[in-house]
Amino acid sequence: MLNAQQQQFEKGVVKVADNVFTAVGFHGANTSMIIGTDGVIIIDTLFGPSSATNAAEAFRQYSDKPVKAIVYTHSHGDHIGGASAFIGDEQPDIYATESFGSAEGVNQAVDPVKQKRNVRQFGRKLSPAESTNRGVAPAGTDDGDRGKGFLPPTVTVPNNGLKTTIAGVELEFHIAPGETDDAMFIWLPKEKVLFAGDNFYSSFPNLYAIRGTAYRDVLDWSESVGKMAALKPHVVVPGHTMPIRGQEAATTALTDYSEAIRSVYDQTVRGINAGKGPDQLAHEVELPEHLRDKPYLIQFYGAVPHAVRAIYSGLLGWYDGNPTTLNPLEPKLKAEKMAELAGGTQKLTEQMEAALAKNEYQWALELSDHVKWLDTADRNLARKVKIAALRGLASREYNAPNRNYYLSYANELESGQLSEVWF
Ligand SMILES: [Zn+2]
Repeated sequence: MLNAQQQQFEKGVVKVADNVFTAVGFHGANTSMIIGTDGVIIIDTLFGPSSATNAAEAFRQYSDKPVKAIVYTHSHGDHIGGASAFIGDEQPDIYATESFGSAEGVNQAVDPVKQKRNVRQFGRKLSPAESTNRGVAPAGTDDGDRGKGFLPPTVTVPNNGLKTTIAGVELEFHIAPGETDDAMFIWLPKEKVLFAGDNFYSSFPNLYAIRGTAYRDVLDWSESVGKMAALKPHVVVPGHTMPIRGQEAATTALTDYSEAIRSVYDQTVRGINAGKGPDQLAHEVELPEHLRDKPYLIQFYGAVPHAVRAIYSGLLGWYDGNPTTLNPLEPKLKAEKMAELAGGTQKLTEQMEAALAKNEYQWALELSDHVKWLDTADRNLARKVKIAALRGLASREYNAPNRNYYLSYANELESGQLSEVWF
């Protein structure tokens, strides 16, 4: 399934309207060009100048008019880092929201760990044989020039949005918090083309990123996508993956997407108010049946269980309300008690190996996490079991971040990069 998703970011320029072109697959995200009377407008600029130069060259086959304006849908690096590659002698206006840049500033204190988790989530160090893709982006992108072509915004889109005309093209900027607080979508009222930024792409949305992000307000996200749907676009151009063409297809996709997010939120809130904790809810909440098999809601990138946990902690913090979890046993002590319960370290180790032999990979992982704490255990064996169980889970997984994380972590364990207790 994940391999088949590859067609969503096959490299090429897609004509989405008479004067609108989107370059897909030149890096992780999309970049688009709108051709006006005396110039062009670029929406998003990829990750760095090298990939952006390739896209700019591909665009030049359709127009060699100068770039009059650049628009950043939001401040994630894969959308802003290649701007310099698009411009010539003329300095274009560069549009972004008032809160532009707020997305990644909140938890810089933990950057060392975020970087490690980022490498795992995107599978940046996986071998070609292990790699598939990143769910909504190809693997193996050239990231060496990250951000080197970034040009700071020169025009601020106010919080109530902006309607303007650039190079004879009517444009509307709508503030739309979602994946980031600083996001907006761009609407061409004449062509009825909508540029969604990363609030929409063909996958269940990444309401929480396992690389470690602050809470993304999922209600805002759902509402922003609902506003897009209300415009009934004839084409929706996502921040990643192929444009969806045709009024019914585009509008239905956005309506469904908004509903899917809202449903996960509502089910989680209902569960919380029924006294349920995040572990239980992560297993209970599901997409409604009529949405489950929609191609743009398959969990290639975002995952419903992760979203449920994020909503839980976003609304209530880490505590699940159960007094047992106020002061749980320290992991090492708990591991010793588990060994005692099993009939000794040897028995617990046998259970761990049996779980792996039965392909009960998650249980094998949980037991190996106990065994690793025991002074009397064969920790090397526990490590080996964990590696094999992670690879077993990865082989069954079509959610790209989970799969990448399992495989990357297994490789780190195998190469001895991680400390004895595997953090
Ligand atoms: Zn993106």
